[in-house]
Amino acid sequence: MNRIKINSPEGDSLIILGGTVDDIRTLLPQKGLFIITDRNVQKFHGKKFPPGEVIAIEAGENSKTLRVVEEICGQMIRAGADRSAFVLGFGGGVVCDIAGMVASVYMRGVRHAFVSTTLLSQVDASIGGKTGVNLGEYKNTIGTFRQPEFVLCDHAMLTTLPETEMRSGMGELFKHAIIRDRNLFFDISASAGQIMEGDMAVAASLILRAARIKAGVVRRDPLEKGQRRILNFGHTFGHVIETHYGIPHGLAVARGMTVAAELSAWKGEMAHTELILMQGALEDAGLLTAHQLPAEVVRMISRDKKSESGSVNFVLLRSVGRAVIRRISISELEQFVSYYNEKESQSQ
Ligand code: NAD
Repeated sequence: MNRIKINSPEGDSLIILGGTVDDIRTLLPQKGLFIITDRNVQKFHGKKFPPGEVIAIEAGENSKTLRVVEEICGQMIRAGADRSAFVLGFGGGVVCDIAGMVASVYMRGVRHAFVSTTLLSQVDASIGGKTGVNLGEYKNTIGTFRQPEFVLCDHAMLTTLPETEMRSGMGELFKHAIIRDRNLFFDISASAGQIMEGDMAVAASLILRAARIKAGVVRRDPLEKGQRRILNFGHTFGHVIETHYGIPHGLAVARGMTVAAELSAWKGEMAHTELILMQGALEDAGLLTAHQLPAEVVRMISRDKKSESGSVNFVLLRSVGRAVIRRISISELEQFVSYYNEKESQSQ
């Protein structure tokens, strides 16, 4: 079992990797526990839930709405939850985003923690204290920062994940390596097949390395005022692709990373050979879907959280393993999107 601590002025968070639910029993209150989960997780892992009131939402991205947050708060108040309530989000990234949001707004904030059950949430979504729901087609537009007291990542729970969701998690696993750690990138590329076949020992060591990267970035910039933005690599295009095509988050991010890498090469920030290296690894791991950039891409990006007065903060690459943040104007982005779409249509 490994532990990573995130200490920040906004609160401390302990990430426990490789433990089981038994390891967190002493961290939970004797009463007033509210377990927020989704129906799939309840079906597969409900027997492991600690004693408490269970609130199960519909699985999937469509549940990430203010209406669902309101419904959960309503169930909590009817069940007698007061300010001493403790929310345990038990599930993947969707559950963590919603449970974190509920915990940060219910009675102006109650204690919370996560049991993280997908590869994507173990390497990314459950760590770092970002919560959020979608506003129509705009992803994570309404949200808060609030660190979970602890996060348990029981890797054995990943064995029940559907193949597509495992692949989706590989997208965010790769992302951490591509922005910060070239050796990890090569190690993930070499082990992708073993992870997909369910080798949890291999997965555990790579999850630990990726989680350390994320925790390190969050520790230095918990409220995303600067460097934490590098964790958004691939997400500006990825969010548009995810919303337009309704594909899993990590697969949309993988496609978004290739577009952002193209943009990096187009801007002269990165050598073309690095783009080929990155794209090849994502393709070999089966992460690249054939989705084109939708027509509304520039309009949606200009309304994204990362956009400010006519330009957008973009995460680009200098090389695989080294990300940088650059401001790009909307007009330059329009030029790039025309170039990219033209190139893609010629390669079909
Ligand atoms: P998810 O939570 O929807 O889980 C994917 C699917 O797997 C769901 O159907 C779920 O019911 C099922 N599932 C979960 N655990 C399972 C298990 N152990 N066995 C079988 N089935 C299981 O999706 P996700 O990929 O975990 O998370 C994606 C979400 O995370 C997106 O909404 C994204 O925006 C968000 N996210 C948030 C952050 C953050 O910092 N807050 C970071 C990255 C992603």
